[in-house]
Amino acid sequence: MNILIVDDETAIRELVGEILAGEGHEVTLAEDGEDALKKFKRTWHEIVFSDFRMPKMNGIELLGAIKEINENTQFVIMTSHASINNSIDALKLGAFDYILKPFDDLDVVTDAANRAIANLSGIRRRQDLVNTLARKNQDLESLNKEFRELAIRDGLTGLFNYRYAQERLEEEFDRATRFERDLSVLFIDLDHFKFFNDAHGHQAGDEILQILSGIMTKAVRESDTLARWGGEEFIVIALETAREDACRLAERIRMSVIEYPFPNAEQQPLGLISLSIGVASRSDGTDSYEKLLRLADDAVYSAKDTGRNRTVFCGGPKQMNPVK
Ligand code: GH3
Ligand code: MG
Ligand code: MG
Repeated sequence: MNILIVDDETAIRELVGEILAGEGHEVTLAEDGEDALKKFKRTWHEIVFSDFRMPKMNGIELLGAIKEINENTQFVIMTSHASINNSIDALKLGAFDYILKPFDDLDVVTDAANRAIANLSGIRRRQDLVNTLARKNQDLESLNKEFRELAIRDGLTGLFNYRYAQERLEEEFDRATRFERDLSVLFIDLDHFKFFNDAHGHQAGDEILQILSGIMTKAVRESDTLARWGGEEFIVIALETAREDACRLAERIRMSVIEYPFPNAEQQPLGLISLSIGVASRSDGTDSYEKLLRLADDAVYSAKDTGRNRTVFCGGPKQMNPVK
């Protein structure tokens, strides 16, 4: 251990120094508080043996200065019977121990050093434990975050999953109703996907779903929630969005998909990979989110019935845009 010994009486500091050096410690001697503080600042000592009454800076002041630099340093006051009350003050201020001068027995010095060493290792063990716990806590927190994220994501596409979309829609529908805000839903269904799977295999189909998810993610806005509703069906919950803008959004999604060069797209019945999209808005006279979903679903059916690769809005004409 690195031990600093401070006493204005040369005989005492040399005696204590000799005892502790004899125990194998690295000792530094200082002749008053100021000298001690200077030496402490140069090298942090793990233990300080300090006289109480000293010129320039007394033991209590030195204790305060040292604790400010390193609160783990073990401070042992060496005091005479006459100043025992001061030692009690020092203990209250964070000194670890005190020993009485003159020493009845030289063992009091080594015993005090050994107690301080034992206390230091206890402090270190506690600190290690606290650090380990803090680390584990952090790991747990990030795991929890990962789990929460996994619970709301679809494994194949990384989009939000059905459960999340359902909860989100219910919540947003209530909010939009309460504050009389616009809200639209886009139901999206991949056209002739069974055909694609049958022709090229399920794995190739999965790849299409993944590419498609990426394209749609780019096409939607920050405030839209895009989720995989099931198989090859997707949903967009568009906040603060009335029918016209919702249809515009649907067309943007549809166009970005038909423009993408999917592998084997030309062999599809329509000669491309395309989407049928149904749009329904809260203003279509819906009083529940279930009704809103039903209307959007009906609109998809209309889109399918009338040739696919198109957007149909609830109650609207069967074909909104000329099919490309
Ligand atoms: P429509 O244009 O009428 O929507 O025709 P469709 O073939 O897309 O529709 P249908 O509902 O008859 O079939 C959907 C197909 O989507 C059935 C299944 O092969 C495929 N599918 C659903 N989920 C997945 C999936 O996770 N991976 C793959 N590769 N295919 C899927
Ligand atoms: Mg389907
Ligand atoms: Mg389909």
